[in-house]
Amino acid sequence: MLSEADFRARARSFREAFAAAFAPETEVDVFYAGKAFLSTHVARWATQEGLCVDTASGGELALALAGGVPPQHIGLHGNNKSDGEIQRALDAGIGRIIADSLDELERISALAVAAGTRAPVMLRLTPGVHASTHEYIATAHEDQKFGLSLTPALDLEDAEASAPEPGETNPYLGSPAWTAATRALQLPGVELRGLHAHIGSQIFEPTGFELAASKLISFLASLRTTYGVELPELDLGGGHGIAYTEADAPRHPEAIAEALAATVKQACAAEDLRVPRISIEPGRAIVGPAGVTLYRVGVQKNVPVEAPDGSTTSRRYVAVDGGMSDNARGVLYDAEYSAVLAGRRVTGEHALSRIVGKHCESGDIVVRNVYLPTATARDDLLAVPATGAYCHSLSSNYNYLTRPAVVAVHNGESQVLIRRETEQDMLGRDTGFAAD
Ligand SMILES: *Cc1c(COP(=O)(O)O)cnc(C)c1O
Repeated sequence: MLSEADFRARARSFREAFAAAFAPETEVDVFYAGKAFLSTHVARWATQEGLCVDTASGGELALALAGGVPPQHIGLHGNNKSDGEIQRALDAGIGRIIADSLDELERISALAVAAGTRAPVMLRLTPGVHASTHEYIATAHEDQKFGLSLTPALDLEDAEASAPEPGETNPYLGSPAWTAATRALQLPGVELRGLHAHIGSQIFEPTGFELAASKLISFLASLRTTYGVELPELDLGGGHGIAYTEADAPRHPEAIAEALAATVKQACAAEDLRVPRISIEPGRAIVGPAGVTLYRVGVQKNVPVEAPDGSTTSRRYVAVDGGMSDNARGVLYDAEYSAVLAGRRVTGEHALSRIVGKHCESGDIVVRNVYLPTATARDDLLAVPATGAYCHSLSSNYNYLTRPAVVAVHNGESQVLIRRETEQDMLGRDTGFAAD
């Protein structure tokens, strides 16, 4: 279940907060990261609130286009885009392709030249800052699949492609990022618009974002020094944290925007650069809190467990009619959620409970620890908040469970955004399956 008003309000608050913080120097584009949750209706809400939409595959691109997002307002991400996906982006005339590798740049160039067009390209860099929740790691070598490193490679092939001129003091020479930027400026069919970095997810502290922004601006300055070009755009990615439980205290968009704007303006002033056009890419911070999952209670068990003092106590297991197929975040990230009894008011005692799914995995846990009324009974409804992001979009048919519907609520009205999956939808792909 998705609150349209909540989604719209969060979308608007990011747009307004960032516009205000970066004015009058520059403008800001807010790209809603569609992978958090995308449907044609949601793409339309985002567009109506003045947001652009980020996609990360041909399928997400198709959905954004079907939702009426103006192609100019769509970005295409991905570390392994196929030629078909790049071609589709070029055919649709989308606003930007975020190139993730040298290999991809060459293919974008060839496809754009063949199509008689120029592709608007951003380069995804890995600034050596990786952040999550309350911590960030600043590292020279980011051991991960995304983007282009700023660290000079010992790899000779890369280093030779951008051999230092005598007297040059460019810290990025020989890095995969520098090699790619150099190539992007030469390649026909490529219009290099700017740099991009996305440093992680569920981040609460500003430091990681600020460090990454400073690195990118320093890279922009080196490009200006060496090639005399000032790239017009800078994309600072997403990853802004939300409250999954009461323990999380996310910052308001105004606070995030003001901290980043101060850093960017200061770093640009220090390098004597114009402040580039900024973009950000929040996903969960827009759609996560808007979503609530409703489960129906089935079997309950009291299981004896050892207490920290060695005595034996019991844990109440409450099984529901879904689980890791509709919310994989517990299994993937040990994610924490909370839950409340919905649909009826119950007074009296509460017991420490664990809400589990119905899948054949003991790790199939929806909410690890929550106090639920002891009167919770079969067929009661449980509501799990903050499930708008990365739940439906990561859903599966494990154990051949059909996926639930996604319903929007707005001003007391409901609307089915994505209908419930039928057994025919799911099993009909099996060529031996015959429906009645
Ligand atoms: C996933 C992703 C985002 C959105 O991350 P959130 O944590 O949902 O804000 C933004 N940009 C890129 C490149 C991503 O891969």
